[in-house]
This record gives sequence, C-alpha cells and structure tokens, in this order.
Amino acid sequence: MTARVALVTGGTGGIGTAICRYLAQQGHKVATNYRDEGRAKAWQAAQKADGFDFALAHGDVSDSASAEGIAREVERQLGPVEILVNNAGITRDTTFHKMSAEQWHDVINTNLNSCFNMTRPIIDGMRNRKWGRVVQISSINGQKGQYGQANYAAAKAGMHGFTISLAQENAKFGITVNTVSPGYVGTDMVMAVPEEVRAKIVAQIPVGRLGEPAEIAYAVGFLAAEQAAWITGTNLAINGGHYMGW
Ligand code: NDP
Repeated sequence: MTARVALVTGGTGGIGTAICRYLAQQGHKVATNYRDEGRAKAWQAAQKADGFDFALAHGDVSDSASAEGIAREVERQLGPVEILVNNAGITRDTTFHKMSAEQWHDVINTNLNSCFNMTRPIIDGMRNRKWGRVVQISSINGQKGQYGQANYAAAKAGMHGFTISLAQENAKFGITVNTVSPGYVGTDMVMAVPEEVRAKIVAQIPVGRLGEPAEIAYAVGFLAAEQAAWITGTNLAINGGHYMGW
C-alpha cells in the first residue's frame, strides 16, 4: 500500500482518536489539530505510550484563516495532505424556540463551515497531484432529524450536500469525497446525555448497544483506501440499524 499524509480534525476526541489510530495502523502519517496546548500534548504523550506518533497543528476549524494555518502546518511537518477527515464537531442542544443565535452559529460554524475552511486550502493540492480522499463525519441526526438539535441536524445534513457536490467536481482528479454518518457512539459527547435518555436510545438500536469509536474509524479507513477509488458521493450510515434511510 502507499503511505499517505492524513489530517483528521478533532483527532483528540473520542471518534477522532480512533480514526487517527486506524489510519496510522494502515501505514499513513497522521496529524490532527488542537486548540488547548496542554490537553493536546497530554493526548499526544498518551498516544505515544501506545506506540502512535501523531503530528499536531494548532488551530480552530470554525475560522477560515486558522484552518488554513492548520493545513499549512501539517504540510510543513508531514507533507501535502492526501487524506482529509472533517471530523471536528460540537453540539449545543436545545429546542429551536429557545435556541440563541450563538447556539445556532457555533454549531453551523464548527460542524459545517469547517468543511469549507479545512477543505478549501487542501483541495487544490489534491487536484494537482490527482489523488485525494475527503471524508466528512456527519451524523444519523443529519439523516433523520432530532428533537432539540435543529442546529446540529442542519449542519450535519449540509455536510452531505457538500460531499455530493465536491464528489462531482473532483472525481476526474482522482479525488473521492464521501460522508460517514455514525449513530450513537459511546464517546464523551454521548455519555454526557442523561443515563435514562441513553437507555431509551439504546432500546431503539437493533444491534442493542452503542457503537464503538473503532467501528467508525474502520469505515473511514475503508473509504480512504486505494481500493475505494470507485466509491464517491456516498453516505455510509454506521448505526447498528438505528436508521435505515438514505
Ligand atoms: P468529541 O467531543 O469527543 O471530540 C470532538 C473533537 O472536535 C475534539 O477533538 C475537539 O477539540 C474538536 N473540536 C471541536 N470544536 C473544534 C473547533 N472549533 N476547532 C477545532 N477542533 C474542534 O466528539 P466525538 O468524537 O464524539 O465526535 C466526533 C464527530 O463525530 C463529531 O463531528 C460528531 O458530531 C460526530 N458524531 C458523533 C457521534 C457520537 O455518538 N459520539 C454520533 C454521530 C456523529 P477540543 O478538545 O479542542 O474541544
């Protein structure tokens, strides 16, 4: 296989860490961004203790100048980015009639505008080199909607619109663009949900449990592989059977 340079945004989080590790296990050189240096260094050291060597680049994906800085720093440390995983995301849940403009914009900026901010400084290089993999980490709630998540569901559904347009524009340049839509995975984001609500969620999952971060990472690795060259513009739902729509 060809070793590639991969950038996973939000790589220090639950799903992001699993994606970084899986891509490294596939032989790729992997970088992620960080905002808090202390936490990032601690994360990097913990990964190193497990045999993983990840590059770090400071920056906030919700800001276009900062995101460009992440791309350039990764390029400086590892070389041009060939695999981009737009994974960084947040929730600011509340019903729409109580939602502030700040809650709306924070979620749209971090989950959706980040895809523009991060992909824009990287796509030209991929087109010039005639190879690239771009994967958006969306959500089941972008497919089916979710009470209390109008902001998050709008951003996550928007990511797939971004995917299918970019896929069309870049197919002839050897670049595939796909979405992975995880169901509920047992990371901090989901463990922050009250236990009785979590129990109700699990009851709706045919497989009968939350997902594992490694199960999402496996799908990203699959889409990033050389052999996945004919898979583009797809939305891979990984949710234990929780939602079987598009
Ligand atoms: P975590 O909260 O564990 O991790 C989120 C990561 O994103 C962190 O590394 C965080 O960094 C980073 N991040 C957040 N905001 C920014 C920003 N503005 N700039 C740069 N980095 C940022 O979340 P998960 O691992 O659970 O989720 C990862 C992705 O998967 C998200 O997009 C999420 O929406 C999606 N998802 C998760 C599901 C789940 O069940 N967990 C289900 C479906 C989708 P920092 O430490 O600096 O905050």
